[in-house]
Amino acid sequence: MPTKRTNGKNPLANKPRSGWDMLQGREARIDAYAREYIRFLSEVKTEREAVSFIRDRASRDKNILAIDNRGKALALCRTGSRPLEGGIRIVVAHLDSPRLDLKANPLYEDTELAMLKTHYYGGIKKYQWLARPLAIHGVVVKGDGTMVDIVIGEDEAEPCFTIEDLLPHLAGKAQYGKKIEDAFVAEKLNLICGSRPDLKAKDEKVKGQILTLLNRKYGIVEQDFTSADIEVVPAGRAREVGFDRSLVGAYGQDDRVCSWAAFSALFAARKVPYTTIVLLVDKEEIGSDGNTGAKSIFLEEVLWTLAARLKQDIRPARVLYRSRAISGDANGALDPDYPEVHEKNNAARMGYGVCVTKFTGSRGKAGSSEAHAEYMGWIRNILNRKEIPWQTGELGKVDEGGGGTVAKFLAEYGMDIVDAGPPLLSMHAPFELSSKVDVYATYLAYRAFMEES
Ligand code: MN
Ligand code: MN
Repeated sequence: MPTKRTNGKNPLANKPRSGWDMLQGREARIDAYAREYIRFLSEVKTEREAVSFIRDRASRDKNILAIDNRGKALALCRTGSRPLEGGIRIVVAHLDSPRLDLKANPLYEDTELAMLKTHYYGGIKKYQWLARPLAIHGVVVKGDGTMVDIVIGEDEAEPCFTIEDLLPHLAGKAQYGKKIEDAFVAEKLNLICGSRPDLKAKDEKVKGQILTLLNRKYGIVEQDFTSADIEVVPAGRAREVGFDRSLVGAYGQDDRVCSWAAFSALFAARKVPYTTIVLLVDKEEIGSDGNTGAKSIFLEEVLWTLAARLKQDIRPARVLYRSRAISGDANGALDPDYPEVHEKNNAARMGYGVCVTKFTGSRGKAGSSEAHAEYMGWIRNILNRKEIPWQTGELGKVDEGGGGTVAKFLAEYGMDIVDAGPPLLSMHAPFELSSKVDVYATYLAYRAFMEES
C-alpha cells in the first residue's frame, strides 16, 4: 500500500511530538499544577516530611486509606469495584533523595570551629555540596524516649549551615592535580555549625557552647545524636526556572516528582475499576534494603490490612501475581552539554512527556526486570488513546553507566511492571531540573493507568 504523506511527513515513521505542542491550550492547568508541586518540594525535604505531608492530604479524602510504615513509607489505597483476587493496580515511587546524614557521633571542634561529621546517602557528586547554604531536617529520640523534630536553616530568619571548600589559590595539588573522585573526599564533608567560644570554659570552648545552645533549644544532650535521623539538605525553596518559567528547579525531584504525580493522580482519578495502591517507599537511593524499602514485605502487609477492611478473603501472593504496576521514577534527560553520554535516538528529552522505560540496568541490561512487549503495548495504547505526551528513553549509551529502579523488586511478585517518569537534568544534584509539561504528563499518565478498566 502506498504511504500517504501529510505536510511532507511519513505517517509510518515514529516522530516524537513536544508535550507543549500536544497539550496546547492547557498551559494554565500545567502552570497551576506546577505551582502546587513547587509548594510540595519547598515544604518537603525528607521522606518523613513527605509521609506526614501526604498523609495529611489523604486524611481529607474519605476514599483514601493511608497505611503508614514507621513514618518513612506510605501506602495510599483506593478501593475499586472489582474484587482484590483479580489483581490490583500499583504505582510505586520513592520518597528518599540523595543527601548527607549526620554520623552517630557528629559534633567536634577543630581550629576553633564547631563541626558536624556526615556520611553521605545515595549517589552524590561530593563537590556539589560544598560552599552552599544547607539546612538540617530530622528527628532526635532523647534518653527518656521522647522525640524532638529539628528543622533549621530553611527560613531566612534562621541560621543555615555550610561545608567549606578550598580556595582556588591553594587548590593546585590538593584538588586540581587529582582525579575528581580523589579530589573530593567523603571525610571532608563536615558541616560548619559554630565558632563562638564559651569564654569561661577550659577546653572545647566552641563545641561546649554549641552543646549548651542545643540543650536550650531542643533539650538534647550529646549522646542523643546516637538515636537520631538527621539529614543535611540544600536550604531554600523550589523555584521556577527560565524567562518563560517552563522548568522547575529544586532539590529532591528524584523521586518526589513521581510521588507527587502518583498521589495527586490517585486523589483526582474519577473512578478506579481496580483497587489502586500508591506505594511510596524509602531507601531506594541505597538499594531498597531495610524495613521501609521496596524489598520489605510492607506491600503484603498493606494487602492483608486492605482485605480485612474490605472483608475479602485473599492470598496476597496471588493478588500481586495478577496485578499491574508502574514504577514511577525520574530518568536522566538528554544533556545539551554532554550529549556524548547519550544515544540520541533513545534518550528522553525535556518537554517530550513522561518517559516509559522498558528496561533499566547496566552492562547488557543486568539488574533490570524489563517489561514484556505485551505490557509495553498495553501501556502505549492507553497513552496514545488519551493523547498523553510520552516518549521512551534509556539511561545513557549502552555501557556508558546505567542505573536501576524498584521495578525489579515488585516484579518478583510476578506482577507486570514498567518504569515511567519524567526526565530530569542535573539528576541527584542539589538543584535538579524538570519540565513543567513532563511533570503534568506524568500525572496524566498515572491517572489514565488508574482509570483504565
Ligand atoms: Mn529515583
Ligand atoms: Mn536516584
